[in-house]
Amino acid sequence: MIEILTINKRSIKLHTQLFINGEWTDPKQGKKFDIEDPSTGKNLVARKAFKTWSKTDARERAKILFRLADLMEQHGDDLIAIECADTGKTFKSCTAIDLPASVATIRYYAGWADKIHGTTVNTPGMMAYTRREPIGVCGQITPWNFPLLMFCWKIGPALATGNVVVIKTAESTPLSALKMAELIKEAGFPPGVFNLVSGFGKTAGAAIAKHMDIDKVAFTGSTVTGREILKAAATSNLKKVTLELGGKSPNIIFDDADVEQAVKWSSFGINLHMGQVCHAGSRIYVQEGIYDKFLKAFTAEMKSRTVGDQWSGSDQGPQNSKMQHDKILSLIASGREEGATVHLGGNKIEKDGGYYIEPTIFTDVRPEFKIMREEIFGPVVSIAKFKTEEEVLEWANDTDYGLAGGCFTKDYARAVRVSEALRAGTVWVNMFNFLTGILPFGGYKQSGIGRECGEAVLQNYLETKSVYWNM
Ligand code: NAD
Repeated sequence: MIEILTINKRSIKLHTQLFINGEWTDPKQGKKFDIEDPSTGKNLVARKAFKTWSKTDARERAKILFRLADLMEQHGDDLIAIECADTGKTFKSCTAIDLPASVATIRYYAGWADKIHGTTVNTPGMMAYTRREPIGVCGQITPWNFPLLMFCWKIGPALATGNVVVIKTAESTPLSALKMAELIKEAGFPPGVFNLVSGFGKTAGAAIAKHMDIDKVAFTGSTVTGREILKAAATSNLKKVTLELGGKSPNIIFDDADVEQAVKWSSFGINLHMGQVCHAGSRIYVQEGIYDKFLKAFTAEMKSRTVGDQWSGSDQGPQNSKMQHDKILSLIASGREEGATVHLGGNKIEKDGGYYIEPTIFTDVRPEFKIMREEIFGPVVSIAKFKTEEEVLEWANDTDYGLAGGCFTKDYARAVRVSEALRAGTVWVNMFNFLTGILPFGGYKQSGIGRECGEAVLQNYLETKSVYWNM
């Protein structure tokens, strides 16, 4: 079924079905796609495709991935329009970040396809070497906050290394992946190598997690769901699991920081995509000597942010859904009830029926408050005052999460000490929320298992085989 979507005055044709074995398939016509039947797994089209894709010359795999990246650029305007309409992302942010980062991801892994190799070891009288082989059929489950980018983070390394994928997008944001499926077909991936399911988590997502003929699951989403996936994998076929989960990242501003830079990056740290970012800097700790100065400048920056729809050129768009909007408001209410001070904002914004929230700053917070412990996923930040480095590091690490963190200081020795002390997978010094996709990304503690991005993610998609050969 092809639907014509009118988005921001663009008319975009989009298939709105499942993409299985190289064809658009409508489940309502009784075509039951295999991943919904976890008990058999025998007809999984992806399994057949794996036999040939895993043996396809790596340079050919690279060529098709490079072609996909080119097609993404050619259809960039449609991808941006779809992504903004589906998520509420601002047009300027999606144009500057989501699309270019997604294209770069596909190109980066296209470049890796023909550079996968094992090692030989000098062993007298025998040949001893390793081979690195694709794992097989990979189930991939993505969240709603960065649908296009997370899609590319997932399929890029999997397809480059010779695996085949069955990917399930988040129920509230399936559209950019549907557009990508069209481009994937056009790029020339053989049928069955890429399969897309736009289903619900508890049905399609859970079916992937417990499927007996899926060899690996790569999940990005909440810690609660990550736990379910791990359980399902453990009680089915012990498929390999990698998890990219939530965060509650600390951002530490020391007395000697450049205040202008600290304000600029801390604002980006909490406001990127309306705070709906797993590594958002949602806990800001400011040293006492600079506290008043920072708070004044940061408040002015938060106040200056314009709020409006995705297309209006505003700094901040709507939250992704009514559910998220209401969840943010209830966490703001909990902050008030527990005794924090609403220094700025704290309310919804009534505007065209959209899901807008005022940029919000809490002060007088305590470590045990919900707003200091739980992901808010909104433009809501808590600011606390600290005295010593030792004290702030203890507070910063007092969290179940460990995705990211950062500090602002001109003292290099202190920057090194803080980078080492933070129990988090990514640390920023004098910046925040900046990723290239080339360094590994992932979480300590309950923020995940394994790493995405860079060379590091390749090992998630490869088995290593040791071969001993008596000559
Ligand atoms: P979510 O866990 O509710 O959903 C994520 C995906 O899992 C969706 O596709 C959903 O349909 C699916 N799902 C839900 N229940 C399932 C089940 N029982 N079995 C299998 N799949 C199931 O998360 P969300 O609300 O979509 O995304 C926001 C969360 O994602 C936040 O916690 C955020 O921190 C996290 N996130 C993490 C990263 C990272 O790289 N660490 C990146 C983006 C988002």
